[in-house]
Amino acid sequence: MEKAKGIVWDLSELYASADDPQFTQDIESAVSLASAFKESYHGKISAENSNAELLAKALVDYEVLLEKGYRPYAMANLLFTGDGRSDQYKAMVAKVQDVVSRMSQATLFFALEIQQIPDQTIEAFLATGKLDHFRHYIESLRQFTPFTLSEKEEQIANRKDLSGATAFVNLFDEFTAAFEWQLEVDGEMKTLTQSEMRELQRHQDGAVRRKAKTAHDGKYGENALIFTNVFGNLVKDHANEIEMRGYDSPIQPTHLKNKAPKKVVETMMDVTTEHNYLVQEFCQLKAKMLGLPKLTGSDLYAPVAKSDRKVPFEEGKSMVIDSFREFSPEFGAIIERAFAENRIDAEIRPGKRGGAFCYSIAPSVHPLVLMNYVDKLDSVYTMAHEFGHALHTVLACEKESILTFHPPLILAETASVFAEMLLTRKLLAEEQDRESRIEIIAGKLEDFFGTISRQTMYTRFELDAHLEGAKRRLSADDFCHLWIKRREEMYGDAVDFLEVEKWFWAVIPHFIHTRFYCYAYTFGALFVLALYNQYEQEGESFVPKYRALLAAGNSDWPENLVRKVGLDFHQRSFWEGGFRVIASLLQELRELTSQ
Ligand SMILES: [Zn+2]
Repeated sequence: MEKAKGIVWDLSELYASADDPQFTQDIESAVSLASAFKESYHGKISAENSNAELLAKALVDYEVLLEKGYRPYAMANLLFTGDGRSDQYKAMVAKVQDVVSRMSQATLFFALEIQQIPDQTIEAFLATGKLDHFRHYIESLRQFTPFTLSEKEEQIANRKDLSGATAFVNLFDEFTAAFEWQLEVDGEMKTLTQSEMRELQRHQDGAVRRKAKTAHDGKYGENALIFTNVFGNLVKDHANEIEMRGYDSPIQPTHLKNKAPKKVVETMMDVTTEHNYLVQEFCQLKAKMLGLPKLTGSDLYAPVAKSDRKVPFEEGKSMVIDSFREFSPEFGAIIERAFAENRIDAEIRPGKRGGAFCYSIAPSVHPLVLMNYVDKLDSVYTMAHEFGHALHTVLACEKESILTFHPPLILAETASVFAEMLLTRKLLAEEQDRESRIEIIAGKLEDFFGTISRQTMYTRFELDAHLEGAKRRLSADDFCHLWIKRREEMYGDAVDFLEVEKWFWAVIPHFIHTRFYCYAYTFGALFVLALYNQYEQEGESFVPKYRALLAAGNSDWPENLVRKVGLDFHQRSFWEGGFRVIASLLQELRELTSQ
């Protein structure tokens, strides 16, 4: 079977087909449930005579109406990702979007009222035990209460945002979406897109990589005026917001949203920075593998090994199931069942969306995986990753409900990245071919340094920019200097960067779209490595703890969830454990390449 031909998902758990009359019925009842909800509870949740029973009942009703609306929403979106050319699916998506936005308008008051209940009252409510299941949901909503302005002020801020911060974000998007590069490739002048340029930076030929990198980053430098204004104004806007709302630092709102204790993030980032010498050693080793005296910035993503290993779908599927099974027979069975029940769409066909995801909407619907399987090891990794997410959902849905099963952001990639580690472990245990081992290990290390060390460097730069930019207007040169300082901290003198690479800060969309998001990548990957290190040391007894962590879903603060399984991410040693895994992979790569 070539490229997973015929592997198409079964959506019948949602609806029999796109024409199922139940689809329209659910839409209608979701809308009427939402208005009935408003009718029943508006003004009553935060009223003086409110009580724990009322709030508990409202939360349950809220989940019922969410589920009613999420089902058609999921169906329309899944059909559409499966075939984006269909006018019927497009119309269904437009319809469900309208429904969800009407539902959220009708229920917006609910979260606000939960936030407005006085501290003492909510404590009394929680003490009744009637809200145990929703305790964490309530507490996490309420952590923003001290930073919320009056309703009138929030409305004004919201409206001014449209022509303020949001306008700068839109400018960035529209401006960069139109970016194209004219470049001579193989003796031919070509017009290239962003993703084609990125491919060229992974080219076999160093001269091609350098030319592509120079052209790519150079374009951002040529347009420095725009990027300096966009980023600079967003920094200034955020500084105003921090001051008006009374946050203690520009990164605090992100920590709250992530439910990540400040101290923990700081420890994690410090440990990461202290291990930059591993990045530098890897870069030196990579230069040697490429036959270069030293890497230049354009060689960072150069391919180091060439193995053309073909992995047909059935083989990839067995590898994934087995890698789960070897860790826990129960996990293996869960994944095997997901395949048997056709909860995956893997074939490549016209109109289907690119990339991959795992979609989980409610405990009553099994998670669904979409990917585009291309008979390569990369695809097997993607499959392991997405089924890691699926496993997380299945376990969390044993006890948790629609408001409490989705893992908190900083733990969201735990099961997926852990699944990739299990696959790596299996591959290395079985693979004897030297080139293939080099490919697997070098690929993993590059991945880790990209998601762990580099994202921490991004975050440090971003924080510098926010702290400096709150004091004065930053020039293009200022941004470049801050960037180079943090880049040097990471790479030392192991890499010679091209002059144009000083503009790379302008390339990263996260700084514009999702402030301080980058450390979540570090957290996710390093947390998993630390867990994996624990597993290697502990063996079997780690398995039930890990299971409990996944099954807890979003029912408590990440800090408590982690502590409950006997781990403490306040400890430096926990994070250092992650780097032990990296160091031992690096050591093995060193040995393989010196043979
Ligand atoms: Zn993922």
